[in-house]
Amino acid sequence: TSVRCGYLEDETATLALGKAFAEAAQAGLVVYLLGDLGAGKTTFTRGLLTTLGHAGKVKSPTYTLVESYSFPHYSVHHFDLYRFADPEEWEDAGFREYFGPDSLCLVEWPDKAADLLPRADIVLELAVAGNGRNYRLLAHSETGQSCLIRLST
Ligand code: ADP
Ligand code: MG
Repeated sequence: TSVRCGYLEDETATLALGKAFAEAAQAGLVVYLLGDLGAGKTTFTRGLLTTLGHAGKVKSPTYTLVESYSFPHYSVHHFDLYRFADPEEWEDAGFREYFGPDSLCLVEWPDKAADLLPRADIVLELAVAGNGRNYRLLAHSETGQSCLIRLST
């Protein structure tokens, strides 16, 4: 079960995938979110955060690069690296410290910081298809794989 794919017919379906993912997720996971602008990466993240208990808005971290959310068991850091350009900024901003066993990191546009980022445990690919989106979840580690197994049971 290291791959799982399907069709998300509308925004609600993308939110539901985020919800299911939240229920299967664990601290320490690094998740890359791939797909064009508008593919649904932030929508998925919103479903996940709401399920973990976040009650407010979920801002797209396009300008801030990262938004953090703390929950009783772990923190979630949501990166959007679309505008990330300066590798020095990675160290200066202390982004390395965001990754670790006590946090779940979701990263939009990981290719913009390719060499600096820890490897993904799971990659979610989203692509516009008709009025909805195709998705594919791939596990790249044992932790990622156990998460995908929990997701499909
Ligand atoms: P991204 O973060 O990938 O740029 P967003 O999550 O901001 O994209 O989503 C862009 C738009 O796509 C939003 O208006 C959202 O409602 C819509 N959307 C999300 N999932 C779906 C889906 N499965 N089908 C149709 N529209 C969707
Ligand atoms: Mg986004």
